[in-house]
Amino acid sequence: MERVIYLDMDQVLADFEHGAYRVHNTTHEEVVKQGRKPGDWSLEPWLGGSQNKFWEPIHKAGKKFWLGLPPLPWIRQLISLVRYYSMEWYVLTSPSICHTSYVGKLMWGSLYDIPTDKIIITKHKHLLAKPGALLIDDRKKSVDRVFSRRRRHTVSSIW
Ligand SMILES: [Mg+2]
Repeated sequence: MERVIYLDMDQVLADFEHGAYRVHNTTHEEVVKQGRKPGDWSLEPWLGGSQNKFWEPIHKAGKKFWLGLPPLPWIRQLISLVRYYSMEWYVLTSPSICHTSYVGKLMWGSLYDIPTDKIIITKHKHLLAKPGALLIDDRKKSVDRVFSRRRRHTVSSIW
């Protein structure tokens, strides 16, 4: 059985944090100065102070927010490596509550030669967990909840 590999999109392929800093008119360096520590996954306390305030400018920007996310420096190498191990690879990404994230994420993928049919957008990643499946995700909490220890892999964020 061929291994299925799932790649998370935000902070694995796309620099979501950079985009969030941009729409909140701040920078990574500024937020670190305010006290954000490496490994601190949540951005809401530093950008907006609540979930609603955090997501407001992202939803306002709509699909342009997602389209404007820079690729992380290793995107080409990571996809090549995944392709080397399996032709059964997919980008597995959660949408925001705004429907524009679906279109934005698909369009973002097309900028980096990721076919639309390789992108699975769902909040229910756990439905894809099965023997032989591997999830590469930056959020340890997500992968712990979704995939067992033997079928997951977490990558560090860029800092
Ligand atoms: Mg992520």
